[in-house]
Amino acid sequence: MLQLPAIPVAPGLAVGEAMVVRDLREGVERQPIEDQQVDGECLRVQDALEHVASELEQDRDRVKVDLGAEAAEIFAFHLGLLRDPALRGAILNRIRDNLDDAAHATAESILDLSRRFQALNDPIFREKADDLLDLERRLLRRLGALGEDRIQSIDRPVILIAARLTPAQAAGLDTTFVKALVMETGGRTSHVSIMASALGIPVIAGCRGSTRHVKEHSTVVVDGDAGRLLVRPLDDELAQLREMASRRAARIAEALDHAHEPAVTADGVEISIQGNIELAREISGLLEVGGDGVGLFRTEYLYLTASRAPTEEEHLQQYRKALNDLGGRTLTIRTFDLGADKVGLAGPDPEPNPMLGLRSIRYCLRNMQMFRIQLRAILRVAAEGPVRVMFPLIGVHSELRQARMALEDVREELLEEGLPHSRDLPVGMMIEVPSAALMASSFAREVDFFSIGTNDLTQYVLAVDRGNDSVASLYSSAHPAVLRMVKDVASAARHHGIDCSLCGEAASDPCLTMLLLGLGLRTLSLTPSRIPDIRRVVRSVRMADCERVARRVLCLESDRQVIRCLQEELGRAAPDFRAEQGS
Ligand code: PEP
Ligand code: MG
Repeated sequence: MLQLPAIPVAPGLAVGEAMVVRDLREGVERQPIEDQQVDGECLRVQDALEHVASELEQDRDRVKVDLGAEAAEIFAFHLGLLRDPALRGAILNRIRDNLDDAAHATAESILDLSRRFQALNDPIFREKADDLLDLERRLLRRLGALGEDRIQSIDRPVILIAARLTPAQAAGLDTTFVKALVMETGGRTSHVSIMASALGIPVIAGCRGSTRHVKEHSTVVVDGDAGRLLVRPLDDELAQLREMASRRAARIAEALDHAHEPAVTADGVEISIQGNIELAREISGLLEVGGDGVGLFRTEYLYLTASRAPTEEEHLQQYRKALNDLGGRTLTIRTFDLGADKVGLAGPDPEPNPMLGLRSIRYCLRNMQMFRIQLRAILRVAAEGPVRVMFPLIGVHSELRQARMALEDVREELLEEGLPHSRDLPVGMMIEVPSAALMASSFAREVDFFSIGTNDLTQYVLAVDRGNDSVASLYSSAHPAVLRMVKDVASAARHHGIDCSLCGEAASDPCLTMLLLGLGLRTLSLTPSRIPDIRRVVRSVRMADCERVARRVLCLESDRQVIRCLQEELGRAAPDFRAEQGS
């Protein structure tokens, strides 16, 4: 058995057949065909060539109308190639002579042509080599051989092993068939991981070499608790793993039995445990585990999972559904946090350093029309129940003030239009940029609540990309530098009498719970599936111990020391829980 280490993202154990999706050219790995399949594969190639030619003609005509005849000229090259008997002949010969499948024959023939262009030493032809890539992509899509197409058409139970996925692709996975997800890249808090962890299946990220070492259809095991991928396990190993999985399932069932007990510490301090959701449909799962409301609705997924920008009514529909399903509990709507690794149709143009670029509130303030549509829907739904709005990635006061001004502006608009809307919508901001954390006292005068986003705060404080598995060992929200900021923000909020919650992934980690309570937090918002565990820890500990732990931890100098200390303390405060987690 081969074992590949990975970063655990969503817990659970799954055994199944691997489906391996590498990058764009992945689907073109040769699938040898039989003699009797030759004619069929040749026909598929003819169909793809004709289909892409008509697709290109339509594009050309559209460009001609929009940009003029000269701009439409670029399509002449593509169309010429498609009609060139040499390319067609090369592909068909590969199928007939080598018994290559249609996709492989197409990709290899285009690769040959591209190499020839590049060897010509003529800049014009070298540029044409890029156009060939576009052509290849179109043809392979028609032949159903692109990784992204394969992901969309999964129709049997598999464990998906993917080189990389976008958050929107993760959101679109059908968990009737995808039983677990392994990503070769990414970290614990990359947005694709966060999205994937809402699917309710085991997920691991940063699993280097997985798409190389695992063969399609082979049996693999994903261990989302320990963060590992086991390839071709032996029978007795499988039996052992299955036994572990059933113990785990029993533990979850037991935790669910206690899901509705209040989250009160052993010495009587009440803690609100809310959920982070990406889509309104997650609310029923959140209520099943006893969530006290939604502390973070990542609304950008409305955008990322659609083929166009949502209208005001579509926003309203989603928010209304979430609010109704919550049955009187609070819904905290975060405005679009697009950009960086959350790009879809609305994403900014590629940037050299997107995590420091035009993302989140910065992007919204530059795209006022889109922002105002969302704000209108939020104000309207807030007339129907307990809703709060929260602005992400605020770094300087002017951003907060501009966002608030936009909100006031659309409020006046709604008033003039006579549409029902809220007059006293609580307005909060995320604290996830170090400048905002350091200036928390000043910001606290201008908002009704804070929510600390440790995922981004950690990456910006430690200068470690949250989505880059090469530096994942340096990324830790348990670093004392991050913790000191959390403490200062919580005390600034207390001092100014405003609410402060924490909604980064740190809130989902039972090992950090005592510490976060000891630092002064009374509201945590987290991945719904983790709520039973966190509630259990809360009910086992005493606030006096949590405060002592926080004092002890803040004197340490590394995240490793912090984690060791916290594991020890959790072991003392909740020995049963700790023992089970270790099993
Ligand atoms: C965070 O940064 O901690 C956060 C909750 O926001 P997101 O993970 O969506 O960036
Ligand atoms: Mg964030």
